[in-house]
Amino acid sequence: MNDKWSEFGEIVRLTGNYVEHLIDEGTLSIPFQKSIPRGEDGTAEAAPRADMALDPVRALKELQETVSTCRKCALSKTRTLTVFGSGASRTPLIFVGEAPGAEEDRQGLPFVGRAGQLLTKMLAYIGLKREDVYITNVLKCRPPDNRDPLPAEVACCEPYLRAQLEVVQPRLICALGRYAAQTLLKTEVGISKLRGRFHNYHGITILPTYHPAYLLRNPADKDKAKEDLKKVKAFLNEARP
Ligand code: URA
Repeated sequence: MNDKWSEFGEIVRLTGNYVEHLIDEGTLSIPFQKSIPRGEDGTAEAAPRADMALDPVRALKELQETVSTCRKCALSKTRTLTVFGSGASRTPLIFVGEAPGAEEDRQGLPFVGRAGQLLTKMLAYIGLKREDVYITNVLKCRPPDNRDPLPAEVACCEPYLRAQLEVVQPRLICALGRYAAQTLLKTEVGISKLRGRFHNYHGITILPTYHPAYLLRNPADKDKAKEDLKKVKAFLNEARP
């Protein structure tokens, strides 16, 4: 097949996935039966759902295996490794970033580059270690040259995040940066307005803050990030049963 046709096929497939996503979100209703998501080879693919009968460690492992062979979008062709997530398999606090960068793509782990080192410090600021929380991204594969994720890629990948949330059962999602916050909240409001405020993501409280990579470039905003982290801590203390 020539390049134009395979590119066209990819666009059609991604559009299909995006429509599925809109239906799932309730943004779009179609008066006929939903089709089953299809893999790159066109065969039916089981929608990722966490098997809640399993213990959370096994449930996450199974989901991770599914993600590791995902071919729903073209990022599967350029990634080195999928980056599923790491940390506690059941925890009140989950951090969600945008997408893996170069180092994460090499190691298959989230937030292991310079931004990740700052994230570790941000956690320490509220008395937490990486193992106390769960850390993941909206996209599980690195976009080439760290470009912004495309809506269709998010539509393909977001069900994995939803399945992770089902297993981890956090009380609070801390969205890291503009992209994660805007994507999850389906808004174009800027991060400076979204940050430090509690919002809702499918019934889970979500608090956006600045992305650690942004803070590395804009250290003057670190104080605001500290205020957000204090709110995270206060929320978790309040929400404790
Ligand atoms: N930036 C992100 O958003 N996620 C990572 O895992 C690394 C950098």
